[in-house]
Amino acid sequence: MKPSTHIILRARFLLPLAGADKTLRIEDGYVLAEGEKIKEVGRFTPEIAKRILATYGDHLQILGKKGQGPGIPCLNGVLLPAFVKAHGHDHEQPLIGIAKDEPLTAWLDHAVNPFTGFINKQYDSLTHELGVTPHIATYRMARLCDIHYGITTSMVHHCNHNKYHFKEIALVNEWAGTTMIVAIGGQDRHYVAELLDQPEDALLRLEQALSITGLLRTSFCPGPDQIFSNSRKILVPLKEWARKHGTLFHIHSSEEPKTTRWFKEAIEPGKTPVEFAESIGILDEDSVLAHQVNCGPRDVEILAKTKAKVVHNPLANTILGSGMPPIIEMLKAGVPVAISTDGSGSADNQNIMAAARLAAQYQKAKYQDATLLKSQELLEMITSIPAKMLRQDQGELAVEKRADFILLTLDKPNLVPTRLDNVMENIIWAADGSEIDTVVTRGRVLKEGGRVLNFSDGTSPEKIMSTVQRLSELFVEHKKTAPELKGTGAHK
Ligand SMILES: [Zn+2]
Repeated sequence: MKPSTHIILRARFLLPLAGADKTLRIEDGYVLAEGEKIKEVGRFTPEIAKRILATYGDHLQILGKKGQGPGIPCLNGVLLPAFVKAHGHDHEQPLIGIAKDEPLTAWLDHAVNPFTGFINKQYDSLTHELGVTPHIATYRMARLCDIHYGITTSMVHHCNHNKYHFKEIALVNEWAGTTMIVAIGGQDRHYVAELLDQPEDALLRLEQALSITGLLRTSFCPGPDQIFSNSRKILVPLKEWARKHGTLFHIHSSEEPKTTRWFKEAIEPGKTPVEFAESIGILDEDSVLAHQVNCGPRDVEILAKTKAKVVHNPLANTILGSGMPPIIEMLKAGVPVAISTDGSGSADNQNIMAAARLAAQYQKAKYQDATLLKSQELLEMITSIPAKMLRQDQGELAVEKRADFILLTLDKPNLVPTRLDNVMENIIWAADGSEIDTVVTRGRVLKEGGRVLNFSDGTSPEKIMSTVQRLSELFVEHKKTAPELKGTGAHK
């Protein structure tokens, strides 16, 4: 058989979420990918089938085709753009279910920093035990989960102890086939002492990351951990670096109420994190703030004026009891808002459709207004809006866009009945996340028939899962005798 140069996927429903009319819903639609890009997209007809089969013949990979019968089968599912995650942490995947029912700072002390510190300190022994570095094992698991939920592109905030491991995450991302911006972390105050940087340390990491060769799907930008844990002395040169290199600049902001209050009272007296960020000149259209939960009207004004962008993570914000940001006010003021999952340590899963649903449920209830955040808008907030935010040419199914798309199967009891008039609504309100059947990125199939395929280095999903299962058992064992961390995040 000749190698295929084109991929076609035909499905009962197509939601392009593209062009001037994003409401468009097509019955019996298809996408044809040529290399990394979309060559054709639209309503399917017998004439199109005839032409495509005649033109591409043996070079055509027909997704979902079982047996050797002629033609292009219409799969019982919804074809839509792959999801884009504008804020997450790949180092948290082994932490699901750990240190629950605690606020952010306690959770950092009890879950994230003990785990990332553990895999750094026991790097050699864990590598020996697992047959792979604990970082690679962890990052592989996170990639697997993203693909499982139909996410092909993400901004990974590589914080705390992980900031030193940018080469490993880049490598894993290349193997997984996803697209990633690694926001490399840093901090110089109010954090675990051994992690504190001088500005030149943080800048050096960025330079070292840029010197890694052979990366096709991975890029880097400054990602200081939080505004409270970074002073002007380090934030200003990091933003300068971003401007010089034309990259984004990513940071957690105003996530938790106590920390945000403490910031205004004691860290930068009289200023909210956003007011402080504006005062030192680090906010502009390339600044992407995660959370911005505890956000007043003046903060919203500043965000709108500076054109900074916000990534809302409702799963983490509710589980950690941080509160929920004023999304409706931000949208009214013209602030771009994407919906994301955050890391799996706080959100406990990467089901970005569930994140979109929760965002809408909260705002509808808060304002007692069911008309807020309709399904189409929510789908855009997990596809085209974050794609634009991350400057990725995807998130819409249109000719010449990057061929990143997914098939959501309708062969599930929870999605029956689905028709043209309720297909968008069912994805938000009735899907449970397990329906992602097929995932294609840059014209490469990452998941088909409900199964994530082996990574390009040959690692199977089963191997990835069993390794992380073992790693988590070793961590829990270690935690029993490890001294307790206190004061991470520094709120007293
Ligand atoms: Zn986060």
